[in-house]
Amino acid sequence: MEQPVWDDPACSVGTMVRGALWLLQVVGEGNTFTKNQLRDAFPGVSQIDRRVRDLRDYGWVVYSSTEDASLLTEDQRFVKAGVAVWDPKARRAAAPQKAMSSKDRQVVLARDGYMCTLCGIAGGELYPDDAIMTAVLSVSRRTVTGTDGHKTEALVTECKRCRSGRGGAAIDVNAAVAAASGLGPGEFRRLLRWLERGRRGATELDRAWIACLSVPPEQREGVADRLRALQISRASDL
Ligand SMILES: [Zn+2]
Repeated sequence: MEQPVWDDPACSVGTMVRGALWLLQVVGEGNTFTKNQLRDAFPGVSQIDRRVRDLRDYGWVVYSSTEDASLLTEDQRFVKAGVAVWDPKARRAAAPQKAMSSKDRQVVLARDGYMCTLCGIAGGELYPDDAIMTAVLSVSRRTVTGTDGHKTEALVTECKRCRSGRGGAAIDVNAAVAAASGLGPGEFRRLLRWLERGRRGATELDRAWIACLSVPPEQREGVADRLRALQISRASDL
């Protein structure tokens, strides 16, 4: 289906769809816009911000200053377009994502240890290779391949960066095999399992790390003190 023009008065589409078309045709992927520009484009439309936010349910990625610290408070960045919401067929096919309840979402986040199942980052954590971007987790519907090769639909936790396909630099097969071959037997088995499933799982270490992160920052030094004491008493047990 052809993409309608965002402000074509002859075209009867809803506000969310018009907002999507405005992002694509006026702002353009990768560019920023302000709330005022958005409101000026849709005079008299109440809650246009919210309608644009609804696009996230259809895989559209828009960052605010909370997710991208290089943005000013009034700025937002249109990172990536998602489902072609102006096409009723494409929109219907994507609709199940919208049906996910906040309870479902909480269950999935807890099961995945509040970590991205692709890169392993925890919610609110800074990316190791990016000093300004903190991870925002969301739950997406994905086709996952089981160890028997059987494909099923599953809800998985992913960070925004992995979701928008902007994860680190490309690595070749040999480099990946070389990096893996140095692992101990337990980690080696775990890595193979992750590869077979197409996503990672939370390890004991991850769970401990998440538990430490969820302690308020001003109390984390207390946690570190207790752990250091534990480390000394463990060493003296040997
Ligand atoms: Zn990630």
